[in-house]
Amino acid sequence: MDQSLKEVITQRVERTAEALRKNNMEAVCLSSAEEVVPYIKSRLKAGDTVAAGGSMTLAATGVMSLLASGEYNYLNRDTEGLTPEQRGEIMRKAFFADAYFASANAISEDGEIHEVDGNGNRVAAIIYGPQNVFIVAGYNKIVENAEEAFKRISTYASPANAKRLSCKTPCAVTGKCIDCQSDARICCDYVTLKHQRTKNRICVLLVAEELGY
Ligand code: SF4
Repeated sequence: MDQSLKEVITQRVERTAEALRKNNMEAVCLSSAEEVVPYIKSRLKAGDTVAAGGSMTLAATGVMSLLASGEYNYLNRDTEGLTPEQRGEIMRKAFFADAYFASANAISEDGEIHEVDGNGNRVAAIIYGPQNVFIVAGYNKIVENAEEAFKRISTYASPANAKRLSCKTPCAVTGKCIDCQSDARICCDYVTLKHQRTKNRICVLLVAEELGY
């Protein structure tokens, strides 16, 4: 990457990290995706109970593989052969995990995290339950403010996720959000994390590389 562009990206990442810290969240700046797994390993103990929300970023950085490595008690809702009831039970058990992992749909430079969920289990666990929450995000998730965040989500993130998951939604076909009333809608719960009462419960890993969407 061009050095000047890299510097601008790094400065934006650091600015955003500082704003997150002011909102009582821990923020760690990493220059590459390869640094994510070693950092996470340093924060977990063997046998810890861990859970995660669905995420391209967690898959791309190797976090999902780490959780499933056998070193931890991974509450894996995607285990083959689960009934919908068993899957739901695992998602509820995630509230008691030692650590919960997710990405952000957007992070604004004013130190806020923006998430949109279909089921609500991911945003619920991020907000309340697990003692430690790790949010991993590439610099491409950084936006200026909440308005830009939700615009980014409806323009790119949600339609792309609907396509990836083969959802029966209009955007999965056309690539454009129409604020649908589909039963398969994946944008039901809009959550913004602002100033946190429990200092450093949420740890945000900001990576100066493009990850996920
Ligand atoms: S509201 Fe409906 S159309 Fe819009 S992005 Fe979400 S699922 Fe797609």
